[in-house]
Amino acid sequence: MKAIVITGGSRGIGRAVALLAAARGWAVAINYRQDDAAARDVVERIEAEGGRAIAVRGDVTREADVAALFAAARAAFGDIAGVVVNAGVVAPSSTLADMSIERLRTIFDINVLGSYLTAREAARAMSTDRGGAGGSIVLVSSAAARLGSPNEYVDYAGAKAALDTLAIGLSKELGPAGVRVNAVRPGLIDTDIHASGGQPDRAARLGKGTPLGRPGSAEEVAEAIIWLLSDAASYTTGAIVDVTGGR
Ligand code: NAP
Repeated sequence: MKAIVITGGSRGIGRAVALLAAARGWAVAINYRQDDAAARDVVERIEAEGGRAIAVRGDVTREADVAALFAAARAAFGDIAGVVVNAGVVAPSSTLADMSIERLRTIFDINVLGSYLTAREAARAMSTDRGGAGGSIVLVSSAAARLGSPNEYVDYAGAKAALDTLAIGLSKELGPAGVRVNAVRPGLIDTDIHASGGQPDRAARLGKGTPLGRPGSAEEVAEAIIWLLSDAASYTTGAIVDVTGGR
């Protein structure tokens, strides 16, 4: 059974990826920051269907926590074949002029540093020139990276643009070592992240204005991520895939 690591796998898009991956035959290690009950629920659902899963609490901005996540996944399942760099946060809508240094640090720490640390650990674990068996990394970016998110969160948008660039550079670095690297840019997806940014109705409200006329679901994003992880995408690397309903 191939094993996959998913950061932020307890809720939203990460949770949907965990459930779909397990249904498609992957063993799943999810990371989460604080919501033990949500993480336990994902593991129990997967085990109830006969799958294999573990949940590892940790903060992706902490180097030791990221290393511990991969160590736990390897101890449970052996070689890692896929990593979904998904944990991410927004903050309440604001113009740049009104953003505090604390907010900027948090947004860049979690979305950029946390993602780079996770991708680094993935490179170390899967590269064939370091003893790994090869694999696939999917970075969860955002349509914000090309829209810029004015008056909402230009900090988050810039942080996600860093992940698009990482997909391009790291795919070239790791291609010869048997690791594909791609990014997915979700649009307006119906998850709790919008409530955490102070706009619980954001996806429903703005989703109506997209070409497909509705917000997307976490499951629809998970389908694209699982495809990129799988051998069906064996010649796809360095790609940035929009899952935005045309937005
Ligand atoms: P969500 O529902 O708010 O879930 C966030 C997940 O990340 C939770 O599992 C949370 O764990 C975890 N997390 C947050 N900070 C963490 C940290 N420092 N260390 C480890 N785990 C952490 O978010 P979502 O909507 O599914 O978003 C998932 C990804 O998709 C993010 O990168 C987001 O930027 C991106 N995205 C989302 C949308 C959208 O419309 N929903 C659009 C574009 C891109 P706890 O619950 O334990 O804190």
